[in-house]
Amino acid sequence: MADAHPLMQVCATIKDVRAAIGRARNNGSSVGFVPTMGALHAGHAALVAAAIAGNDFVVASIFVNPTQFGPGEDFQAYPRDAGGDRAMLRSAGVHAVFVPAVGEMYPLGEPATVVAPGPIARILEGADRPGHFEGVATVCAKLFNIVRPDRVYMGQKDAQQLAVVRRMVRDLNMPLEVVACPTVRESDGLAMSSRNRLLNPQERTAAAVLPQALSAALTLIHAGETSVPALVEHAGQIIARQPLVRLQYLEVVDPRTFAPVDHAAAGTLIVLAAIVGSVRLIDNMQVGQGGAWSEPRKRPER
Ligand code: AMP
Repeated sequence: MADAHPLMQVCATIKDVRAAIGRARNNGSSVGFVPTMGALHAGHAALVAAAIAGNDFVVASIFVNPTQFGPGEDFQAYPRDAGGDRAMLRSAGVHAVFVPAVGEMYPLGEPATVVAPGPIARILEGADRPGHFEGVATVCAKLFNIVRPDRVYMGQKDAQQLAVVRRMVRDLNMPLEVVACPTVRESDGLAMSSRNRLLNPQERTAAAVLPQALSAALTLIHAGETSVPALVEHAGQIIARQPLVRLQYLEVVDPRTFAPVDHAAAGTLIVLAAIVGSVRLIDNMQVGQGGAWSEPRKRPER
């Protein structure tokens, strides 16, 4: 990881972050961007490290975006840790952090103009969380317009979000490259997530059944079983043994469209969502990739 950046600029306004980035651009710097909702952990740190390795100037944002939370979801309860986040970003070598208030991002209230991400936004996470991906795509479009990065770093952990944003960038000719980073996991396999902080110790232990089920499905595939019902049954049985975990969906899908497939093949994603206690967690693993995302890189449009 790069040396700590002693002068990390903390920008609460669009004007200030644009000025900081403008100065870097004037010096010929390339710009990498890591959008987050804060409560940062080692998964976010991996995105920051990749951004620092690939760009001269790195901007992170911390914004818990209200428009991607539905009524009754955990917008208020979403973990927040402004002090810890800033210390982490500073020691990781980030040059500027954008920390807007809701009123800075949405000065007119709910935006009238939004990004509609199409069919992928209505299945799986989109079906369970109506309006979620519209909120994600719209805030990403806004942040990309504010930061105007060369490269954006996102996690494979949120695979459907990654697919939505990649498709938006292509459809709307945004001049940037989306770089996907593999899921960072705890030692028992649980995908790191800001929401893991909301689990009590019993729930935290129980949550490890999620990566166990995904890994068991991958093991079955590697042993030659490709039939989706057999894979879903096998993984579902493992989760069903854990009473604190309630499965919402477990599906085997195409990594670009998230449409269900009949047979698992190289590149296929196994995705799941589950409620552990009262906390909703998602995870996925990809066939033949050791859990890493592998969509071919595209050159940015310039
Ligand atoms: P969030 O703060 O949860 O909105 O996540 C911000 C970014 O970090 C997104 O691109 C996520 O996919 C990514 N991310 C979250 N958890 C992980 C993880 N365990 N490993 C890798 N990337 C992650």
